[in-house]
Amino acid sequence: MITPRQYRGRFAPSPTGPLHFGSLVTALASYLEAKSHNGQWLIRIEDLDPLREPPEATGQILNTLDAHGLFPDEPVVFQSRRHSVYQAATEQLLSNGFAYRCTCSRKQLEAHRGKHPLRCREHSRKYFDQPFAIRFALRDEVCHWQDQLLGPQTHIVRAEIDDPVILRKEGFFAYQLAVEVDDIEQGITDVVRGSDLLDMTAQQLQVYRALGATPPRWLHIPVIVNEHGQKLSKQNHAPALDNLNPVQNLFSALVALNQQPPQFLLSGSLEDLLEWGRIHWNRGAVHLTSR
Ligand code: GLU
Repeated sequence: MITPRQYRGRFAPSPTGPLHFGSLVTALASYLEAKSHNGQWLIRIEDLDPLREPPEATGQILNTLDAHGLFPDEPVVFQSRRHSVYQAATEQLLSNGFAYRCTCSRKQLEAHRGKHPLRCREHSRKYFDQPFAIRFALRDEVCHWQDQLLGPQTHIVRAEIDDPVILRKEGFFAYQLAVEVDDIEQGITDVVRGSDLLDMTAQQLQVYRALGATPPRWLHIPVIVNEHGQKLSKQNHAPALDNLNPVQNLFSALVALNQQPPQFLLSGSLEDLLEWGRIHWNRGAVHLTSR
C-alpha cells in the first residue's frame, strides 16, 4: 500500500526588511496549514540577493518568528549557503537543454518585446566572452493547475518572452531556480504563500518537471493591503511588527485570515492562541477578495 507523503510546509521569506504584518499572516497560514495536517513546518531564508538585503534583516525576521512562537521543526535553511547545489542544478538544466546563456540587456529585451535579438535560445554557446545570464527555457503552454484555496487556475506561459533568469549576470542565483531546488530537496509537499506569487506558479511547474520532480500543492493567501489598497511591503513602508505584542499580532492575523478568533484569546498565552488556531483552522474561510 502506498502511504501518502507526510505534509511538509514552509515559510520562505526574502530578507529585504523586518517582518511586517502581511508576512506574519502568510507565515501563520502556512504554519496552521501544516500543524492542522499533523505536518512539519520549516523556515527557509531566501537570502540570494545581497544588494537588496540589509544585513540585519535575517536576524530580525528570525527573532520575530521566535517571539511569535512560530518555531520550525528543523534547523533554518539559508539559501546563501547553498550556491553549490544551485550550480549543480543549473548545469543539469543546461546539459539537458532546459536552460541557455543569454547576453541580452534589459533594454534590448524591452526594445524587442521580450524576444532575444541575438536569438540566445538557439545560440547559447556562442557568446562566452561576454557577461551572460542563464535563463530557463520555458515551453509555450496553456497551463491548468489547482490552487488549494483559489481553485482552478489557467495561465498562459510564453516561451522566450517569459523565460526567467536563473543565474544573473552579476553571478547571483535567482529565486526562480532556488525555490524549486530547495522545495524538492526539503521534501516540501505543500506551499502556502502570498498571492503576489500566483503568476509565477505555472513557470515553476515547468522547472519542477525539468528537474524530474513532482510539484507540491500550492495555496495562495490573498495579500494584505493597507488603507490605500497597496500591498503591505517594505517598499510601501509597512511597519515592522512589535515583538512585545505577539498575542495581539497573531490575533489580528487570525482576523485577517477570517478565522473569527474569540476575544478571550487576547488575554491568554501565545501557546493557547496558536493551539486554538491549529484546532479551528479553516482554510475555506480565508477571504478570496483582497488580492
Ligand atoms: N521568498 C519569497 C518572498 O519572500 C517567497 C517564496 C515562496 O514562498 O515561494 O516573496
